[in-house]
Amino acid sequence: MSSWVVSKGAEASVPVHGLSARFPVHRIYCIGRNYSEHAKEMGSVATPEDPIFFMKPADAVVTDGADVPYPQATTDLHHELELVLALAGGGRDLDASSARAAVYGYALGIDLTRRDLQAKAKAKGAPWDVAKGFDASAPIAAIQPIGMTGWLAQGSMQLLVNGQVRQQVDIADMVLPPERILMALSRLYTLQPGDLIFTGTPAGVAALKAGDVCEANMAGLPSLRATIV
Ligand code: MN
Repeated sequence: MSSWVVSKGAEASVPVHGLSARFPVHRIYCIGRNYSEHAKEMGSVATPEDPIFFMKPADAVVTDGADVPYPQATTDLHHELELVLALAGGGRDLDASSARAAVYGYALGIDLTRRDLQAKAKAKGAPWDVAKGFDASAPIAAIQPIGMTGWLAQGSMQLLVNGQVRQQVDIADMVLPPERILMALSRLYTLQPGDLIFTGTPAGVAALKAGDVCEANMAGLPSLRATIV
């Protein structure tokens, strides 16, 4: 048993629908430009042969129902509705079947983005960390174990802000489907139990302000509610 010179916060974790045990978060990986219409609205194109990956810190997770403080250093906080994969397994150089076997379950998440800082980073050819990996930048709903959903290849998800639909898409429209995201990531990193993968946002990203209530829904998955404060 180690002893520590300072004490830090508890391990980041996400609730699992129907269970008291929680999902411990190891890393949060995200893919960019994974829906063509979103790539287009960003003035770009999807490049499935050369996907864009970035990370958020594990403790960026915010669970369902929690308040999300409007972050510092931005005046253009954007929502990005995303389907999130939660891993129970992992490894390197996964094939399609081992990639599928690594999935523990699914959740709805929001990849909160400081769009102004991202635009600056893009212009400078600089990393996206400050635009993507800030405190409380990963609101996520309770995880639904895959035993309850089966492998998800299609289905409509939507994000409402103050009751108005802002984003809506069928996950079948992903440029790289979930198993191919995992295959590509596993050629860069050793995937591990506890990893969360944000699978990209559809078109309709837009600004949030204090007081906005975000609600993400998809049939068969627990919904996500987050209030910007
Ligand atoms: Mn995103």
